[in-house]
Amino acid sequence: MVATGVHVLLGMALVTVIGRSRRAEPYLVAALAAALPDIDTFVFRPLVEFGHVGGVLWSHRALTHSLLAGILVIALCSAVGPWWAAAIGFGSHVATDLLSGGVRLLAPVDTTVYGLSIDWLLLNALTSILAVTVILGGLIGMKSDPRSRVAPHTPDSVVEWLR
Ligand SMILES: [Zn+2]
Repeated sequence: MVATGVHVLLGMALVTVIGRSRRAEPYLVAALAAALPDIDTFVFRPLVEFGHVGGVLWSHRALTHSLLAGILVIALCSAVGPWWAAAIGFGSHVATDLLSGGVRLLAPVDTTVYGLSIDWLLLNALTSILAVTVILGGLIGMKSDPRSRVAPHTPDSVVEWLR
């Protein structure tokens, strides 16, 4: 299991590289979409423990990590920001979970777990280092970009200067 914070960092790093937006919405949407799949640990687990639902579809990395959930998450997140950022956030979450133990990608149609089992600690560490490096590089790049500099505002008159 890759930590939710690492999923958020990776989604924002990919938006930094792919989207290169100066607006906040793509980053926020990617962070939200990257965090949403793991909501199953908070919502489904109590339902299973109290006996309200059962079966593998309600386990971690099942329904909320499926392609069907991806479509729903992207549609919901696109109401507040760009759909492509939501796709990046959700897709990066599922991709890293595919590498670190697998997901039930085709749930509820097929309950097969697809993926690899790369050590989660190693994957968390490498993903975190990569994501933080990319985000910091993107911020430094934006700051040093001459197109991003805003000309200082000079008042046209003394009256405007006094306001
Ligand atoms: Zn997950």
